[in-house]
Amino acid sequence: MKKVVVVGIDGGSWNVLKPMCDRNELKGLRKIMEDGSWGFLESTLPPLTAPAWVSFYTGKNPGKHGIFDFVKLESGKMKLNRSRDVKGKAIYELLSDYGIRSVIIALPLSFPPKIDFNGIMVSDFLYPQKEVYPKGSVDLSNYLVSSDPSKIGEELIKDVIETTRSQVELGKRLFSEEDWQFFFILFRETDTILHNFWEEVSSGRSHLLEVFKLVDEFLEWIIERIEDDMTIFVISDHGFSDYEYLVRINKIFHDSGLLEPKIVRKEEASLLETHVKSAFGTKKGRIRIPKIFYRMLMYPKVSTIVKKIYKLVFKGKEVSYLIRVDYEKSKAYVLTPLSSTIYLKEDGDYDRTFHEVLKLLSSLEYQGKKVVKKVFTKNDVYNGDRLSEAPDFVVVTNGFILDSGITGETFERFSQGGYHSLQGIFAAYGKNIRRGKVDAKIYDLLPTILHALDLPIPEDVDGRVLVEIFAEKKDVRQISSEENEKIRKAISKLKKI
Ligand SMILES: [Zn+2]
Repeated sequence: MKKVVVVGIDGGSWNVLKPMCDRNELKGLRKIMEDGSWGFLESTLPPLTAPAWVSFYTGKNPGKHGIFDFVKLESGKMKLNRSRDVKGKAIYELLSDYGIRSVIIALPLSFPPKIDFNGIMVSDFLYPQKEVYPKGSVDLSNYLVSSDPSKIGEELIKDVIETTRSQVELGKRLFSEEDWQFFFILFRETDTILHNFWEEVSSGRSHLLEVFKLVDEFLEWIIERIEDDMTIFVISDHGFSDYEYLVRINKIFHDSGLLEPKIVRKEEASLLETHVKSAFGTKKGRIRIPKIFYRMLMYPKVSTIVKKIYKLVFKGKEVSYLIRVDYEKSKAYVLTPLSSTIYLKEDGDYDRTFHEVLKLLSSLEYQGKKVVKKVFTKNDVYNGDRLSEAPDFVVVTNGFILDSGITGETFERFSQGGYHSLQGIFAAYGKNIRRGKVDAKIYDLLPTILHALDLPIPEDVDGRVLVEIFAEKKDVRQISSEENEKIRKAISKLKKI
């Protein structure tokens, strides 16, 4: 029976992993590279965790599936995206139509499943609780979903290792005990560790290696258990690279009269932001300061004095107010920190705002360096029914992070030093996989997995079958959604008999 295993390494990047493989520190991945196909996996633009994993599991661009970030705006309020917000069929739903059983562990924005699919699903870090579908089908008492983002340094490392160990344990258990033809597991802590310990890539200290080794031991473990008809894919949602500075775009918009700030009570902003922050792995402490101080901080002339006073008086206490964007009144804004996207208000001034923002972005310079490399409009990068929800601009920079902050310095050194890049990793291994280099796109995984399982490819996917990786050549079959629906009905009838 044909089987496919996908191991997701969140944030996995060849500039980090290849040197480790070359030094034979990651034996599993090295074997996969030596005996299989491997290369870059181009992520979504921008390369963000939520849209990228959803593009993986639908085979479609964000303009079709509708997920552009962890969050979205709904009548001026920020809302977290959920699995029900995803448009289009997920890989495990398509497989279920053919009666094929899946095991899905921690796939972002998959939980709760939208339909009663054939298989088991363990919730991901974007779902508030640890849960399994069908309820009670798997014992999750020793399983940890995510490390605690408020931790730093050695404490964080300990937590990340413990979390990853529990995930490896669950992965092994479901791999051997469950019946499946499609198996997916995501190791998410690799991204956490890259965000927090990026400087180790050049300094050569070992925290990064320690975490990647745990994931690699899992790869070695499944390689030992591979069957003749099984294909293993190792992929990441995006890569990682150096970023030197951050630029507070919302502050620039505010200074140009394009953005209206508002001051909100901490309680109003907190729940969602804590969730988003934990998703990003930011871990700043909170400080309490009165509303009036926040208002003053927005004026450059007084802000330095205000900051000094506030440091003296309010050090180390809880924040009670926050400055946020007034989305209803603003003409242009960055929605989330680090997202590289800009949203414009749809009003009579749209064209003027559009050109003003373009001009602003292209003129930005810091220390003799142009900030922006290229600006894409939504029509350049996306297509589909959900295009109207897309950000108006996607910005590619020269090593600058676009920050959503309204206050503070316009430019600042980016302390983490590393952040998401477009080039993720792709590797495939198995008896039916040829050796060699291949460059793929994240949309190609779904059609390629279906092809590996001898199934036809839905017409509306954006990717292609990576035919060059397979030793056995067979025709790529396409199928319309109507035909697919007929098959689903026929198979579900058969199951009832
Ligand atoms: Zn990340």
